[in-house]
Amino acid sequence: MEGEKKWRKIYREKKENGICVRCSKKATHGMHCYEHYLKEHRRSMGRAENERNKRHDRGLVPVKRKDNGLCLWCGEKAVNGTNVCGRHGKIFSDAGKKAAKKR
Ligand SMILES: [Zn+2]
Ligand SMILES: [Zn+2]
Repeated sequence: MEGEKKWRKIYREKKENGICVRCSKKATHGMHCYEHYLKEHRRSMGRAENERNKRHDRGLVPVKRKDNGLCLWCGEKAVNGTNVCGRHGKIFSDAGKKAAKKR
């Protein structure tokens, strides 16, 4: 891993000397010059955007069920203005009672 070590050394030296780690310009924005700062920034922004979309996809089913008055857990009809069906409502209230007893 000689190349890796060498790169690390260059990286550290640049950082210490205030040189952009991507090129040899002055690092005016943290470890990067303005140009590379923008590039890095855009890249990390893109990653955050992807993460958000992934989370959104996962959250989509429960939201849909909630809108239709269905149980978040199984999709059956929710009761008593809650987000869960009678069966799941009972499971949760039982669990709540148990937890309350334990304390
Ligand atoms: Zn640069
Ligand atoms: Zn249910």
